[in-house]
Amino acid sequence: MTFSKNSKELFDRSLKITPGGVHSPVRAFRSVGGTPVFFKEARGCELLSVEGKTYLDFCQSFGPLILGHRDPDVAAVVHETVDLAWTFGACEPYSLELAEWITSRVPWVEKLRFVSSGTEAVMSALRVARAATGRSKVLKFDGCYHGHVDSLLVKAGSGLADAVPGQAASDSAGVSAAVANETIVASLDDEIGFERIFNQHAKDLAAVIIEPLPANYGLLIQRGLFLRKIEALCKTNGTLLIFDEVISGFRVGLQGMAGLLCIRPDLVTYGKVIGGGFPVGCYGGRHDLMDLVAPSGPVYQAGTLSANPVGMRAGLKTLQKAEAMGLWKDLGERTNEFAAGLESDFADSGLRLKVARFGSIFWVHGETSVPIVRRLSQFADDHAPRFKKVFHACLENGVYLAPSGYEVGFVGAAHTKEILLKARTTIARVAREALS
Ligand SMILES: *Cc1c(COP(=O)(O)O)cnc(C)c1O
Repeated sequence: MTFSKNSKELFDRSLKITPGGVHSPVRAFRSVGGTPVFFKEARGCELLSVEGKTYLDFCQSFGPLILGHRDPDVAAVVHETVDLAWTFGACEPYSLELAEWITSRVPWVEKLRFVSSGTEAVMSALRVARAATGRSKVLKFDGCYHGHVDSLLVKAGSGLADAVPGQAASDSAGVSAAVANETIVASLDDEIGFERIFNQHAKDLAAVIIEPLPANYGLLIQRGLFLRKIEALCKTNGTLLIFDEVISGFRVGLQGMAGLLCIRPDLVTYGKVIGGGFPVGCYGGRHDLMDLVAPSGPVYQAGTLSANPVGMRAGLKTLQKAEAMGLWKDLGERTNEFAAGLESDFADSGLRLKVARFGSIFWVHGETSVPIVRRLSQFADDHAPRFKKVFHACLENGVYLAPSGYEVGFVGAAHTKEILLKARTTIARVAREALS
């Protein structure tokens, strides 16, 4: 394989043949500026660029790699599977093993269906919810990302209470007003606002969908009481509760946020960690709801590469290994120590930066008047420009953060305590130089 050893040159070529030079928007560095680095190899918590420079990776492909890049045990299973079969389009035992592993550990996932991405999982779960309830509307929360499903690329902005049918707008061009109008948007962290909006639409609401740990617009840790309020209103109204655990599932713990909160969603969606670095998504939940899906029921959903053996076995090995290692607890402790240390280093240098964290997820953000940022209106005004400076200073010094101040960082099994301590020292130093 030969390619240029120059990221700029590769990016210039890419710009000519794919929109913005990338196959997924954040990769393009638009929110931090500059030219994206092209990587050719990865191992553990390290990335190797085409130029031959190594980086400590906190992006971790935006979440799937809880064991780090190319974990040796997962790699062995992948190689073995590649030598057995790539795809059958027929029944096989590999997806059954992963499905049984999940359903035996997550009691509210009574039945499930594998798909190839988080987006597909969410799209399908919404279809099931509409079919089950005979209702059309879905309520989501401002700042929660659920993949690029048409109807969920919508948020109504700040003036929700006054939203008039026909004025709902999508964040994306190409989403029809009719589709946008099926989506109702509420604010995170606001029981009263949620209840008011919910009640306005109650009889039409098929589902409420939420990231129980919103981690796609910074890390916006929700109060348990708020999430329980949502659960209660859904229950009394016959509205289904969908937990989108594509990012939090198998990342914050074996049973995800639902397990930590003791909330039983009717439907749940998974992605990222569940495929161990391969394209796997999953939706599941109550058996009566899942039995609505074809071929047992009238809700159509299918996929040529669904339950692909390589992804199934990589996912299962990843989850088995995480469970055997007691990884979730360990990563939570390591991440907390790293983030708390970094935050205190920032404070010592007089930098107005905080490090939010939950499990193995962290988020560096501008200090604001509240101790914990839980909704969009609480963001520091200068968050984005300051993150940009920190990002580039880190990049220069071999630390790769996700290239947007609205994306979180991930710690995985490969980030040892020693590596994290070194990273903390580097980030604290370069941030001080960059911001003062
Ligand atoms: C990443 C993500 C998605 C989309 O998953 P893709 O695999 O990128 O389609 C959906 N919901 C949440 C909460 C996510 O974090």
